[in-house]
Amino acid sequence: MGTEEQKVMEERVQNIRRQMEEAARQAGRKPEEILLLAASKTQSAQTTAFSARLDIDLFGENRAQELVEKMDAGAYGDKPAHMIGHLQKNKAKYVVGRAGLIHSLDSLELAREICRQAQKKGLTQDVLVEVNLAGEQSKSGVSPQELEALLEQVCQLGALRVRGLMAIPPAAQVPGQNRPYFSALRQLFVDIKSKKYDNVNMDCLSMGMSRDFCDAIAEGATLVRIGSGIYGPRS
Ligand SMILES: *Cc1c(COP(=O)(O)O)cnc(C)c1O
Repeated sequence: MGTEEQKVMEERVQNIRRQMEEAARQAGRKPEEILLLAASKTQSAQTTAFSARLDIDLFGENRAQELVEKMDAGAYGDKPAHMIGHLQKNKAKYVVGRAGLIHSLDSLELAREICRQAQKKGLTQDVLVEVNLAGEQSKSGVSPQELEALLEQVCQLGALRVRGLMAIPPAAQVPGQNRPYFSALRQLFVDIKSKKYDNVNMDCLSMGMSRDFCDAIAEGATLVRIGSGIYGPRS
């Protein structure tokens, strides 16, 4: 990366922080309640390492292998990395114990495999359940109707702890379009929290991306996932 590119990235992150703070304030929330995750998929280890020095809280990767490679290369500096993309069962072993949080739990089979790997390693793996709010075929995640049935099973898996919910709503065409989805996810979050399942500690609401993170914050997001807003458009 050239110094010009570095400067551009630094300014983008500063801008995002300012917008996050403003959105939090407008919603009567504390800015420090909301984490900025850099979605570093497809970015080189070098670019990722540069961004680790900026004002971001943590990283998110979509592919297990990319997370492992960049972590081994030290690209995340001292910041945690989360798994935010769809996780295949046979890849769970690579990220359990390495990803601070897996955002994409979407089936009981995957939960069982994560639990099995966590037990093998003698640890507890934190996860979010991914909810497919709009019923999009192309996306993973459980439907809002399936969520409680999944939680009732998952809460019996001792080496797994549910920390909250994640969603990727349809790409918004106009500003504000995704607010109803964010609001719906927050409602599910609050409902589950009030039910006090074992091994379920609802404290993370992962929603909002480059184009809609301010709306997500207005609706209660505690973690926003920003890719292109930090790194520029993906090729
Ligand atoms: C790529 C990605 C993001 C970031 O998307 P941008 O629109 O580039 O901000 C967030 N969440 C997930 C799961 C992603 O795959």
